[in-house]
Amino acid sequence: MKNILTYIEIKDGAPIKLSLEALSKASEIAIEKGNKSLALITEELKDDELNKLRGAGASDIVVVKRDAYNMEDFSNIIVEVARKYDCEDIFIPGTLDGKDLAPNVAASLDTVSLTNVMDIKFEGEDIIFVTPSYGATVLTESKINKAPRIIVVRAGSFDKRDDLKGAGNLVEENIEEVKDLKAIIRDVVTSAAAEINLEDAPVIVTCGRGASSDEIFPLVKELADVFGAPISGTRPVIDDGVLPKASQIGQSGKIVSPALYIGCGVSGAVQHISGMENSGFILAINKDEDAPIFNLSDVGIVGDCKVILPLLIEEVKKIKANA
Ligand SMILES: Cc1cc2nc3c(=O)[nH]c(=O)nc-3n(C[C@H](O)[C@H](O)[C@H](O)COP(=O)(O)OP(=O)(O)OC[C@H]3O[C@@H](n4cnc5c(N)ncnc54)[C@H](O)[C@@H]3O)c2cc1C
Repeated sequence: MKNILTYIEIKDGAPIKLSLEALSKASEIAIEKGNKSLALITEELKDDELNKLRGAGASDIVVVKRDAYNMEDFSNIIVEVARKYDCEDIFIPGTLDGKDLAPNVAASLDTVSLTNVMDIKFEGEDIIFVTPSYGATVLTESKINKAPRIIVVRAGSFDKRDDLKGAGNLVEENIEEVKDLKAIIRDVVTSAAAEINLEDAPVIVTCGRGASSDEIFPLVKELADVFGAPISGTRPVIDDGVLPKASQIGQSGKIVSPALYIGCGVSGAVQHISGMENSGFILAINKDEDAPIFNLSDVGIVGDCKVILPLLIEEVKKIKANA
């Protein structure tokens, strides 16, 4: 029997949303094929967090305890668990750590990794993996002829399931820590901005170049505060130093899928769109009625952010007060 293993990235004692999306898809495939869906965690989790893994279909939860992340050691854990449990697919969330781990795991297992997987299709016995190219203007379909397949999952591509009812049996494995490390992490220094978890935020307010002036930016911030949402930015806004790099959404930034994305003065270049097109509901404010962002917006407001944002803030405040 060939199983599927999903590496679960954990933040602040909880699996990140993208881990649950990856596990849900892995479990759907495992259920379809009558195989096991294993979730690999590297720290103990509370019961309600373990239940999220069960809801996402984990038949077994393999625990290998560690104090801190190290790429070589964590790659080795994934490799050892995949070998022991005879896994033909290894799903890894496409975070910075995930993209760090996947090629190393693939090299160790003498196989290939496929990054940014946004869809998985079946053609007879074959599994076809879909990945975006050129800012998602072209979709590539790949079949992997080597095993195991290392699948790096793109944020927001698959539903996070809570109804798959995996047994989620806990199994503890002792895997010796890799000591002969090529790189040793002595300290992790996190800027306040880097702690912003855009990937898991239900609402994101994005500041584009059209809203980054000293006059308009405070309004963008106020709107974000009213929602209790983080602010993200387009690349020019990051390049101008208005927001830190950790806030950038897009091809060379983060890939997000909030329930609500609000774009203020964002034109909608493909390099930005490829990072937020999986958002649930897209609201865009732009003074140019031909701005490309309107092509994928659920609601588009043609107007100056200086005028529109105060009105929007007022309305949201009223709704919140009456809720
Ligand atoms: C290799 C590469 C990678 C890239 N990676 C990324 C990436 O990861 N993320 C990213 O975002 N970009 C990225 N870019 C840059 C991308 O191509 C665009 O230049 C960028 O997304 C544009 O940002 P913007 O929409 O804020 O600015 P602009 O394109 O300048 O748009 C500003 C918009 O604001 C509107 N506007 C102006 N004033 C107002 C106002 N007062 N009220 C309302 N609307 C107003 C304008 O009509 C305009 O549509 C990348 C580019 C390259 C070449």
